[in-house]
Amino acid sequence: MVSEIKRVLAVGSHPDDVEIMCSGTLFALHQLGHEVHVASLTLGDCGSVKLSAEEIRRIRHHEAMKASEVLDATYHHAGFDDLCIFNDDNSNRRVTSLLREVDPWMVITHSPNDYMSDHEMTSILVRNACFYASIPNYETKAGVAGCTLNIPYLYYAQPMEGIDIFGKKVTPQFYVDISGLMQQKLEMLACHESQRNWLRAHHGMDEYIDSMRRFNTSLGQRASELSGRLITYAEAFRQHRGHAYPDDNVITTFLRESVTAEPAYLIADTNHKEKGLEPIVATKNSI
Ligand SMILES: [Zn+2]
Repeated sequence: MVSEIKRVLAVGSHPDDVEIMCSGTLFALHQLGHEVHVASLTLGDCGSVKLSAEEIRRIRHHEAMKASEVLDATYHHAGFDDLCIFNDDNSNRRVTSLLREVDPWMVITHSPNDYMSDHEMTSILVRNACFYASIPNYETKAGVAGCTLNIPYLYYAQPMEGIDIFGKKVTPQFYVDISGLMQQKLEMLACHESQRNWLRAHHGMDEYIDSMRRFNTSLGQRASELSGRLITYAEAFRQHRGHAYPDDNVITTFLRESVTAEPAYLIADTNHKEKGLEPIVATKNSI
């Protein structure tokens, strides 16, 4: 257990996105004693070919709550409609309001490049909200009371299938070994029965669960190649390190034994150290 409990928020567009992107890492942080919050901007009301938007919204809200219970996380829904996430003034204020309510120390969200617009818009709204939340004159429903004075640490998960819209591979900065947490991750995803059953009927196999397992296996293979040890399943991330955002890598600080870096990231880290900043990476590839 850690001496100081931190609040971690993971934000996805749809109710099952956080599970797929990063729930293994969230389980690892929770095991250390950190407080975990999960949010979806929408309730995925277009995620059915049979049920009405209202019916599927009700079902998926229930599933999301159940999944968050597996993680012992608090679930938040930001009230957007499916396929209606846009980078406009009202949306920025709504997501900033969510950030102020939760007041996280660290945030994980979608990759800025992903296969669909909802994910990319969520990524940019969350990035903006991390910056805007501590600006007192920026008005939102949740107000400014109790909001953080610091921009939280921000991480992007891998896009769907690890590729951008041109099919080009998106290389993460580092991998987190989740081999020992895959069972919990699968249990959490399985709570989203409406999506699982729909894909099972459509594909004739348990594609919902299998595709996630395949993706985490492929990330584990790359982490194994780099580290020289067997990593069955991994999740992978890039950190937002632009101006004003905190750029020391706190995931590596907390999960040091489980983290493996890409060589390009190690070079970037050397440059970071040369600027007189705190080192992010300790050894060759295992950090
Ligand atoms: Zn999604």
